[in-house]
Amino acid sequence: MRLYNTLTRTEETFVPADGKTVRMYTCGLTVYARGHIGNFRTFVALDVLRRALRHQEGYAMRHVVNFTDVDDKTITASAQAGVSLRAYTDRYIQAFHEDCAALGLEAVEENPRATDEANLRAMTGMIQALGERGHTYESEGSTYFRIATMPDYGKLARLDHEGIQAGARVDADTYTKHDARDFVLWKSTKPGEPTWDYGCGPGRPGWHIECSAMALRLLGDGPIDIHGGGIDLIFPHHENEIAQAECATGRQFARFWVHVEFLNLEHEKMSKSLGNVYNIQDIRDRGFRPSALRYLLMSVHYRKQLTFSFDILAQADAALTRLTDFLARVDAVAGGDAHPEVLARLEAARRAFRTHIADDLNVPGALGVMFEVLRELNAAIDARGVGRPDAEAIRAAFGEFDQVLGVISLRRAEDATPSADDAEITALVEARRLARVNRQFALADQIRVDLDARGIILEDGPAGTRWKRK
Ligand code: AMP
Ligand code: ZN
Repeated sequence: MRLYNTLTRTEETFVPADGKTVRMYTCGLTVYARGHIGNFRTFVALDVLRRALRHQEGYAMRHVVNFTDVDDKTITASAQAGVSLRAYTDRYIQAFHEDCAALGLEAVEENPRATDEANLRAMTGMIQALGERGHTYESEGSTYFRIATMPDYGKLARLDHEGIQAGARVDADTYTKHDARDFVLWKSTKPGEPTWDYGCGPGRPGWHIECSAMALRLLGDGPIDIHGGGIDLIFPHHENEIAQAECATGRQFARFWVHVEFLNLEHEKMSKSLGNVYNIQDIRDRGFRPSALRYLLMSVHYRKQLTFSFDILAQADAALTRLTDFLARVDAVAGGDAHPEVLARLEAARRAFRTHIADDLNVPGALGVMFEVLRELNAAIDARGVGRPDAEAIRAAFGEFDQVLGVISLRRAEDATPSADDAEITALVEARRLARVNRQFALADQIRVDLDARGIILEDGPAGTRWKRK
């Protein structure tokens, strides 16, 4: 598989170091609020990478996605809410797991949280190792990393060394993206803040040390195979993760760095403080299902920006519906023999799909292959050129595609567990049927018009009325 590596700025052939198991780390959510759909663009893209490595390339996975459950934001938010940091972050960890399930993300092998004792000890251990190698200094009870002690600091972000300010310190968890400064490893306790003491004095970890320490604790000695996250993390977060891990161990930290481009919003302003970021619940409240969002998020190549709007979400929903409608049509093929040309066409589509995925996760290309074969097979079904064994082969091929994409199975799972909304719609469809039986046609029409306004289309057929979303 070819994968773009931010470290080398080139596409390279990816094989895990041991040839069998991919050791991968993804920077997870800072759990001071529910994750928004921008966060989930990154997590969905890295889920598709994980699925491709497992199901297409056949590797085993050891994949760690952390929770940042202590930083300036989580501390401030929990204090404002009047609950402990642990109780506050627990809520959003729970919400994250729910959202991941709703978006069809595969469960990963480890979801460590920074404030678990084993992780805090790994962090202080790493800070001590950095101290022994002369990379740290203390000031007012906090420990800092001195970037002047690392000659190749800045290699991931390709920093201009002029921009590095020797001796200038920053100890906040939010950093400017332009100047490289000595960064905090362990922050001394401020009054009222949670505090831990495992050998670096009373305090709490800086954001960067969390990831370096948890990655190496859970994945073993560097280099790990893949480190991923959103593109905004390249600098300073990932640069600093490299500095810490490599200076503490003398070994390379990660071989491949994978960065997912930003999801933008239709309006310019997109800050959480303005309240115009959307989460999964907002998507549901607008009548969409999470499968439509998953489809949309992966339908644009992960290294291209994606501007979100409800219009393109509706288009994604329609595309996904075309796939499931097609498969329902295939399921209805009841008889007939195998057609060698159908099997040959499917084999070609399989090869093309795999080639696209293996080309730096070209999901749009892979979806193009699926729709092309869908069009041709629809025409073949019209011409009675698809028999039962062919239908079986079509299901198998699309099942294989969906192991990587994880979106058709998600839509089916949604269909199988109707939401409260769905139950209401089903009840209205039944009310309309009864109205028609009782010859109350005005009422029946009104129900149809009301449902139409909510984006629900009714299809009357011999077996009764089916409904679907526009
Ligand atoms: P955070 O909770 O801010 O630490 O972010 C969690 C993950 O989401 C990180 O990998 C971020 O890079 C990523 N992320 C945040 N905002 C966006 C966005 N608008 N588009 C894509 N990824 C994002
Ligand atoms: Zn990280």
